[in-house]
Amino acid sequence: MKKYVIDRGCKACDACYWACPKKAIYVDQQGAHIEQEKCVHCGICYESCANEAISVYEE
Ligand code: SF4
Ligand code: SF4
Repeated sequence: MKKYVIDRGCKACDACYWACPKKAIYVDQQGAHIEQEKCVHCGICYESCANEAISVYEE
């Protein structure tokens, strides 16, 4: 299973927030974060980030 984590240079542009079909992403002053318990591992946020701020890990 792929795990998506926002861990490198998020610019808080909100693109992934709007793209996520499960509303699993929230944005605060540190940037965007994925609520793993809501995530369905679809990868849409990963595709939507123009800043390559989202990492994908195999679990
Ligand atoms: S992988 Fe899919 S469900 Fe999970 S945070 Fe990204 S867009 Fe949302
Ligand atoms: S799309 Fe990328 S840069 Fe924009 S808020 Fe999401 S993780 Fe951050």
